[in-house]
Amino acid sequence: MSDDCIFCKIASGAIPAKFVYEDEFLVAFPDINPMAPVHVLVIPRKHLDSVAAAGPSDSALLGHALLTLPKIAAKLGIAESGFRVVMNTGKDGGQSVGHLHWHLLGGRFMEWPPG
Ligand code: 5GP
Ligand code: ZN
Repeated sequence: MSDDCIFCKIASGAIPAKFVYEDEFLVAFPDINPMAPVHVLVIPRKHLDSVAAAGPSDSALLGHALLTLPKIAAKLGIAESGFRVVMNTGKDGGQSVGHLHWHLLGGRFMEWPPG
């Protein structure tokens, strides 16, 4: 828990959010500014600034997240149509919140390349 981190506050319940999925390690909730019909943020309960701050002790957590993302997509009804997972990292990566998160996007065709 990082005291001034908005996603830590969401994960702990200090700031209310509608969790579309939660388990011991992760929570998922709708992005406040959705870029697609389905746009949720999947975050670890543990504070990590970004994937670049993760270490070997986080390997189980990161593996769990990757295995869970398709399950959340299925729960949200976008597993068959397809979905995109985005992990913005650092300044040039477009990361604006300094708590590791995955964007799970779907419900429309995702263009490539990204902007
Ligand atoms: P980033 O730009 O760091 O990859 O993504 C951060 C995302 O968090 C943005 O898409 C932004 O809309 C979302 N976001 C920022 N603050 C909040 C908040 O307080 N609640 C929710 N649900 N989403 C937020
Ligand atoms: Zn945090």
